[in-house]
Amino acid sequence: MLNLILGGAPGSGKGTISDIIVQNYGLTHISTGDVLRAEIASGSELGKEIDALISKGNLVPDDKMIAIINKFLDSLGVDCKGVIFDGFPRTVAQAEALTELLERRRMHITMLDLFATEETIIARLLNRGKTSGRADDNLETIQKRLAIYHEQTQPVAGYYLKRHQYFFINANINPDVTFAQVQTILELIDKH
Ligand code: AMP
Repeated sequence: MLNLILGGAPGSGKGTISDIIVQNYGLTHISTGDVLRAEIASGSELGKEIDALISKGNLVPDDKMIAIINKFLDSLGVDCKGVIFDGFPRTVAQAEALTELLERRRMHITMLDLFATEETIIARLLNRGKTSGRADDNLETIQKRLAIYHEQTQPVAGYYLKRHQYFFINANINPDVTFAQVQTILELIDKH
């Protein structure tokens, strides 16, 4: 199984690159942001609580996120070629919980950390905001999400770096250049 975490700030290209990896490697993709937005769209009480957090750029509590991932892992069939976590883990506590969930299932993981400059990120998200309909793709919320990313999510990279499960990727140019780096890394992983 090839199991990947796509890390990186909002707007670094996690969704775009996930789609390309899925097309080329047939992995099963979970975007925790998409799962949360689906819960909001369902109109449930939980969805309302989540909406209040997401629309202000805040993170959803770790326990709720870990429960979502546990359910996702339980749903995988025997023919699953591997998974891509897009937008998870976003805190070190989530990363620690994921390690436990994966160890229980004898699954190994590698983090691909997408890097783009703040200038690129803001331009991409404002552009996406024109069509995404996402309440959090506006300048004020983008800045809040970036601050939260630096404070709470960036330490996740150190967690995987220390565990020798980390690769840095320049995602500042375009999806082709980003994916070419991903392919090189996946070939390397495959040989080990
Ligand atoms: P995304 O679609 O990945 O940009 O996520 C959109 C929003 O969903 C984030 O700004 C958070 O509010 C929430 N979210 C997504 N994934 C997580 C996570 N792993 N932990 C906490 N909140 C999350």
